[in-house]
Amino acid sequence: MNVNTSAPATSASAQRPSSSLGRRLVLATLGFCLLFTAATVGLRTWLAWEDGRSAMNAELVLIDQVFQSNLAKAIWEMDSDALETQLDSVAMAEPVGRVELRIFRAGRAPEVIQRQRPQQQPQHRAPVLQRRLTYEAYAGARETVGELRLEGDEGLLWKRLVDDVTNIIITQVIQSLLLAGLIMWMFNSTVTLHVRRIAQHLTRLSPENLDQTLRLDRSVKRQDELSLLEAGINSVQLKLSAYLERQHQDELALAAHRDRLAELVEERTAELRTANVLLEELSRSDPLTGLANRRHFDEIKEVEFRRAMRLAQPLTVLMCDVDFFKRYNDHYGHAQGDQCLQWVADTLKYVFARAGELVARLGGEEFVVLLPGVDAESAYRSAVRLQQRLAERALPHAASAVSPQVTLSIGLAGFDADSMDQFEQLLRRADEALYRAKTQGRNRISD
Ligand code: GH3
Ligand code: MG
Ligand code: MG
Repeated sequence: MNVNTSAPATSASAQRPSSSLGRRLVLATLGFCLLFTAATVGLRTWLAWEDGRSAMNAELVLIDQVFQSNLAKAIWEMDSDALETQLDSVAMAEPVGRVELRIFRAGRAPEVIQRQRPQQQPQHRAPVLQRRLTYEAYAGARETVGELRLEGDEGLLWKRLVDDVTNIIITQVIQSLLLAGLIMWMFNSTVTLHVRRIAQHLTRLSPENLDQTLRLDRSVKRQDELSLLEAGINSVQLKLSAYLERQHQDELALAAHRDRLAELVEERTAELRTANVLLEELSRSDPLTGLANRRHFDEIKEVEFRRAMRLAQPLTVLMCDVDFFKRYNDHYGHAQGDQCLQWVADTLKYVFARAGELVARLGGEEFVVLLPGVDAESAYRSAVRLQQRLAERALPHAASAVSPQVTLSIGLAGFDADSMDQFEQLLRRADEALYRAKTQGRNRISD
């Protein structure tokens, strides 16, 4: 196949795309993960805050349970040292930010003792636990001796929250990055790689290598959109290849037909040319004798007459007529008469064979000879030779009154520039000379 195509100019750009589908996908995934992470972090932070508060509340309940009875006992027994020690212990517990103990005494205003962590701010968000302290001095006699108020440490709450949120953010970010990386890797290995391979294949494709099928390096079992694309490209290549092959064959056949047609035209033209030449010759020659006919003679005579006038050259005309030819026909028959005319014509051709000399049959048994550049004397000698030649042939003519053989009467006339300006004048002069030859006895030359 010989189909010319331009070289793939876009191969470099096809192999190095300015932007990658995979990268865009990853950026979109990262953007989505960022939003998702922000929302998740917000939600989980709120949950962590609520969990932290619940956990702190549970711790306060536990502390209350641990110290409640000892505190109630110390109040009842008015053991201020034990009370102080217990309260210090409560205040030292990690989740406690502030502790307030109200001691109820009969008939007196409640005594308030409180412990607070250094830099402890007024609490707003930390849980608060407020419990009455009761003491059972003896069975069945339980009495309220005070009230314990435990306020959670908000600083601790915030610290724990910050730790939790840090963990949440780290895990979410790691999750997002892993997800984006996974998508990037998956997309690259399952799509981008093969799309680039397809682009490379298509760029290198040309009519000469359409038979190179596209083979993606993937598992044969995997039947997806890429498999469809691969099969589609191979199918198009196959069809295109078949089409180009058919086109090439058609072109060859067409070229062969064209050549054959050209040969035929050439042959026909040559035949026509030959036929035309033949026709031309036929239209200008006498069919019986092969001599020039009157038409040809009429063409030539004008040319020669004008040349003779222009160059002042001699031009002589001989009018020849077979003597008693009617009798010849009557005696020998018309067919023999034709044969006789051919013999006479051959004799004329033989004698006047030089270039420029023209012998024509004007009709019947009358012939004319045109001799350009020949003066009357030379023409006369030629006329004599003609008669001699005819005599040598000794064509019998039993019916002739002048000779037992076929004879010619010849009228000769030469061009005279002073008295002639048309060929017809010269021809008439030759005709008159012939007439004289006839009347003077035939078988002679008259001028
Ligand atoms: P003259 O000596 O005075 O010329 O006598 P002639 O008999 O030759 O002249 P005439 O003009 O009386 O007769 C010419 C004859 O030539 C008449 C005709 O039958 C014959 N003829 C003319 N054309 C042809 C031809 O093509 N073939 C044959 N066979 N005869 C022809
Ligand atoms: Mg005649
Ligand atoms: Mg005659």
